[in-house]
Amino acid sequence: MSESAPDEEKYAPEKKLQQCLVIIKPDGLVKSLTGNILTTLSETKLWIVGAKIVHVDRELAEKHYHKLKQEKGEAIYEAVLKYMMGEYHTKRVLALVYEGEDAIKKIREVTGETNPEKASPTSIRGRYGRIHTKTGVFENVVHASDSEENAEREIKLWFRPHEISHLIYSAVKKTMTKTEVDWQ
Ligand code: ADP
Repeated sequence: MSESAPDEEKYAPEKKLQQCLVIIKPDGLVKSLTGNILTTLSETKLWIVGAKIVHVDRELAEKHYHKLKQEKGEAIYEAVLKYMMGEYHTKRVLALVYEGEDAIKKIREVTGETNPEKASPTSIRGRYGRIHTKTGVFENVVHASDSEENAEREIKLWFRPHEISHLIYSAVKKTMTKTEVDWQ
């Protein structure tokens, strides 16, 4: 990415600096929509401060959609987990963190409503989403955090502090004993 972390001095104190998690879902990747989606997101003039490909396992999908079962029911919940784990498309997503003033509102405006048939036709979901006839899942190509509370929870779930080039949530130094794969 050519972008770098924003200069904090640019933000007047009354302006709300936020971060927002965006996920390009498996259907977005398999349909080669990454470039188009990033271009539309760049219209917000926000900064990308984190980006990575993730293979979503059941544990991550469950934690991400921790309220969906009670909100939408078992059948939709299970189908949405499979969708996020890539069972219908490809087993990967692109996770991004955008940062800037009112980032959440700006991102949600360009992503559009959850139901792609109700989303504005010029929004990302309105342009590229569909409702799958067999599963009933709203295959809406992107996820975007919808509140400050959810953005913080989701960013901390998907990213480690060292993977984000500018932190707005506090982090601590810890000695980790985990064995990790490194370059040989
Ligand atoms: P959003 O992604 O807009 O924040 P939700 O958190 O309510 O919306 O839902 C999470 C995801 O589950 C949606 O993005 C969509 O892919 C899927 N979904 C939500 N509601 C439905 C529904 N009624 N039928 C099918 N899929 C749904």
